[in-house]
Amino acid sequence: MNDTANQPASRSRRRLKGPKVCHCCSKEVPFCWSCRCGFLICQECMNENVWGMSCNGITWQCPDCGGQNGFGNQ
Ligand SMILES: [Zn+2]
Ligand SMILES: [Zn+2]
Repeated sequence: MNDTANQPASRSRRRLKGPKVCHCCSKEVPFCWSCRCGFLICQECMNENVWGMSCNGITWQCPDCGGQNGFGNQ
């Protein structure tokens, strides 16, 4: 008797959104900081620009709309 049942179907992880593209370096990255206006910046660019975008390390200012966005509060 061949019992080939109970083979787990290959699970495909569905992403709700496609890869994010950093507005600074135009790279596709798995994670971007995002602003309500749609501006995206990757962690790498954030690290390079944090001195100009954040004055307190808690919030960063969007260069597009000037809005304040919190770190770790996506
Ligand atoms: Zn970037
Ligand atoms: Zn913005």
